[in-house]
Amino acid sequence: MQTKVLKFGGTSLSSAEQFKKVKRIVKAEKERKYVVASAPGMRFKNDEKVTDMLYKCYELFSENKNINDVFSKIEKRFLEIEKELQLEANITEELYKIRNMFSKNIKKDYLASRGEYLNAILLAKYLEYDFIDASEIIFFDKYHKFDSEKTNFVLSDVLRKHKHAVIPGFYGIETNREIKTFSRGGSDITGSIVARAANADVYENWTDVSGFLMADPHCVEDPLIISELNYNELRELSYRGATVLHEDAVFPVKMARIPINIRNTNKPEDKGTMVTPALSKNTNKKVTITGIAGKKGYSLIYIKKSSINSENGLKECILNRLKINGIFFEHVSSSTDSITVILKTTNLEGKKSTVLNDLYSNFSPEIIIFEENIAIVAIVSKEGTKSEEILFKALKAILKTAIKTKIIDKGSNESSVIIGIKEEDYEKTVNVIYREFIKEKK
Ligand code: ASP
Repeated sequence: MQTKVLKFGGTSLSSAEQFKKVKRIVKAEKERKYVVASAPGMRFKNDEKVTDMLYKCYELFSENKNINDVFSKIEKRFLEIEKELQLEANITEELYKIRNMFSKNIKKDYLASRGEYLNAILLAKYLEYDFIDASEIIFFDKYHKFDSEKTNFVLSDVLRKHKHAVIPGFYGIETNREIKTFSRGGSDITGSIVARAANADVYENWTDVSGFLMADPHCVEDPLIISELNYNELRELSYRGATVLHEDAVFPVKMARIPINIRNTNKPEDKGTMVTPALSKNTNKKVTITGIAGKKGYSLIYIKKSSINSENGLKECILNRLKINGIFFEHVSSSTDSITVILKTTNLEGKKSTVLNDLYSNFSPEIIIFEENIAIVAIVSKEGTKSEEILFKALKAILKTAIKTKIIDKGSNESSVIIGIKEEDYEKTVNVIYREFIKEKK
């Protein structure tokens, strides 16, 4: 019999109503054996996610402020689900244990992970599946990196002993037995790890949209859904800003060549997006791109100095100075006497003047320009399409507008083209590029 691993995101498990949908989906196919749960997400617009509230609680605690209001809201979310579904899941006792930890130097990751932990306990009860705590099966090494081989070894063995199970997403255990979380949205990674260990036939990732969209719906009205894409295209889109799946979730399933199916819990009849190891074979052969993704929140540093490009090792020294200051660059482009470095603005927090002064004193440049509020748009091409062709079309669309580009990068492979613009032009840029490419299909 086939094995399917399912991961349900926060909105899919945000209330008793949503739990009912999840149960219908899981029970619809007996191959759906292992389920990874996120913490309760938003039930309606502007609702609070449990994980955000847990982080808030930790912040209050570390500032010696009262946590009672926020913690009571968290308690209410879980107790409501338990009550409405008439479960006896001992949530009151579990919440009591967590509250008690505040008097014992509670750790941030431990607290943040409790949303997944409690939700998975509830879901296991509701589905009548076993509960396997992620702290028993997901390991980090002594460098705090995810230990993929140890995890796969232990987890495969554990799964063999459970016909059906629910596992909390987002966290695992360090060598010192402390809980450690992945980065935000990390339950997608847990799902992928479980799919690999279960040797699943498919990893179903259930969320609140019917798959990957070809562009951000905040920029384009009703963008087309990508029905099929491959691992590389997925990685590009996720890394560049498509928020459907965590950018690192592709790695475990890629190793085992397991397809990912992105599905909508609220519309289970939709087929969603299929991510496969093979070449993408989108039905619409005329459209040469897979999709457009992007993010705001970048800054650029422009440095002008004669011979910057020809002087041996100078560019490396500049990048090294940034590294010494804890700054990691996203993109670099250089011309005869100048270099532009693009970096994440958050990476510069509290360090901006130190970094700029450091560059001044070490390199005595003629000019340094620092510019914030940069956005990066990536156009991910279909395999087999030349980046030049993509770049040509994208620029053709941009040139018809007043948008000014800050950086243009054809990429070191043919998979994507990068365009940097001002944040205020982000929505328009995505829109005009999308229109240019989608026009093709008519
Ligand atoms: N609950 C965590 C977050 O909000 C992890 C996840 O949902 O995947 O980031």
